Amino acid sequence: MAVIEREIQARFKCTKCGNEDCYIEELAMTGTGLSKMFDIQNNYYMFVSCTHCGFTEVYNSNVLKGHRGQLSNILDLLFG
Ligand SMILES: [Zn+2]
Repeated sequence: MAVIEREIQARFKCTKCGNEDCYIEELAMTGTGLSKMFDIQNNYYMFVSCTHCGFTEVYNSNVLKGHRGQLSNILDLLFG
């Protein structure tokens, strides 16, 4: 996970103001309702906030982890 955060930090560019610094916080959403009933694993989300304007994007960490091999391709798509 640390690798993913580093990669995002290195490539981050705010889509709103163009700032290149971000603050990343990872939060776990514990299962509620149906997901708890079916014992689905916790979902982890990364909140990536622009340090200049505060715009925040949320990424599903589980999805990014699943693409570890091609992570840089995906980040190229996100931040070009
Ligand atoms: Zn910004």
